[in-house]
Amino acid sequence: MQKIKIIILDFDGTIGDTVKVIINTMQATIRELHLPARTDEQCKKMIGLTLMDTPAALFPELHKMPSEDSNEFHKRKEQLSTSFTETYRRIFSQFNTPGAVTLFPNVLPTLKKLKEQGIILTIASSRGNGSLTKYVEDLGMSDLISYTIGADNVKNAKPDPEPVLKTLEKFNCKPSEALVVGDTKYDIMMGVNAGAHTCGVTYGNGTRQEMLDAGAERVVDDFGEIMIGRYTMNIEKTIHNLQLHGFEVELVSTVAEAHNRVINQLEKLQPQIVAAGDSMTLLALNVLDEVKELSPKFLQTFSCKVDAQFAGTTAQSSATSVPAADSATAEISRTQLVENRREALLSDLFITGVNGISEDGSLHWIDMTGNRCAAVTFGPKHVILVAGTNKISPTPEAAIERIRQIAAPQNVKRHPNFKTPCAATGKCQDCNAPDRICNIFLSMPRCFPKGRIHLILIDKALGL
Ligand code: SF4
Repeated sequence: MQKIKIIILDFDGTIGDTVKVIINTMQATIRELHLPARTDEQCKKMIGLTLMDTPAALFPELHKMPSEDSNEFHKRKEQLSTSFTETYRRIFSQFNTPGAVTLFPNVLPTLKKLKEQGIILTIASSRGNGSLTKYVEDLGMSDLISYTIGADNVKNAKPDPEPVLKTLEKFNCKPSEALVVGDTKYDIMMGVNAGAHTCGVTYGNGTRQEMLDAGAERVVDDFGEIMIGRYTMNIEKTIHNLQLHGFEVELVSTVAEAHNRVINQLEKLQPQIVAAGDSMTLLALNVLDEVKELSPKFLQTFSCKVDAQFAGTTAQSSATSVPAADSATAEISRTQLVENRREALLSDLFITGVNGISEDGSLHWIDMTGNRCAAVTFGPKHVILVAGTNKISPTPEAAIERIRQIAAPQNVKRHPNFKTPCAATGKCQDCNAPDRICNIFLSMPRCFPKGRIHLILIDKALGL
């Protein structure tokens, strides 16, 4: 797959939370024009259509005529479309007070990061271009959005591909280099019809199933997930470079597949002693209990609750037993945990995650105690790593920066007792806190011996 150069975004329900003001406007329009009553849900389903096309979809019974070719039919249809559009626009301007429309969570930071990566960001909307550019300005996106195309800029609106094709022509991009992001089937159909890649978001006005049925390649629950490596990074290049550097790599699409690949590797290697290092992605695979069951000896090396108690002012509670969620991360004392970490360095197989992957084919970690970094570097005969494609960055420097600014502060939040500056601000301040988690930095540009490390790359946003 070619790297994505341009992202064409829908506005309503995808980046701008306009649903309330749209539904209120639509209901007021229906009342003023004495049209048949419709529920909020029925009105919501119209979002994505142009205003001129909305009456025919919302009131199909008003358009029933003995012959669809009759002049009267077309006249009546056009009259209703025009009066609906004019009334809606007038009422919308009254309801659209400052602050009535906001951006959805993670939209602004994600757009900033995509822009930093050199990706062109544009909007293709069914609303008029005047209102679109005003929103772009009011919501602080003027520096991020390079182009907007509204219903009045095209002859054929969504789901016709014209808005996408016109945008691509302007930026001299191919459909295969474009990602269309939207919240309704109309957005997805527009992208599919143009031959572009498509990603649906579930928090807007359409359902996951509607978007999948329309041909969406992916559907995500959070705007931040559109940054997944599949769309913004060159995964094939990353895998090629990692393999060139001695790492074994396989790409899977789902968490279930990754689960099975871990078990397959375990059956192939037949290790006597297996240890697993702390990793949110590994926990998401829900595989550790099975690994423990299949292993003659399993060493538990992490427990968030033990780490949390051990941190900072509670360091003296080193022998406290803490219950944990499942048998592979079950109740264990701090003393035993540290012993297991030492013993894990001589295990046959060590399984954990990786914090950052660079397109140049290198792997990167930040560790608090260093037990994960030690084990992946030397000791265990084999290492299995699991990671989502969201961990891929364009350069080693960007991978380390991502870990410091995103992964580490979020990881601190898993430990409620940690008192680092990032726990309060969410931003790294290169602290000297007693419970600083960024004590060991590891970059691995090559795997030695070749094939010792097996990376299972999952085409999803997983872990931190
Ligand atoms: S160095 Fe300190 S402030 Fe920065 S991410 Fe690590 S723990 Fe947080």
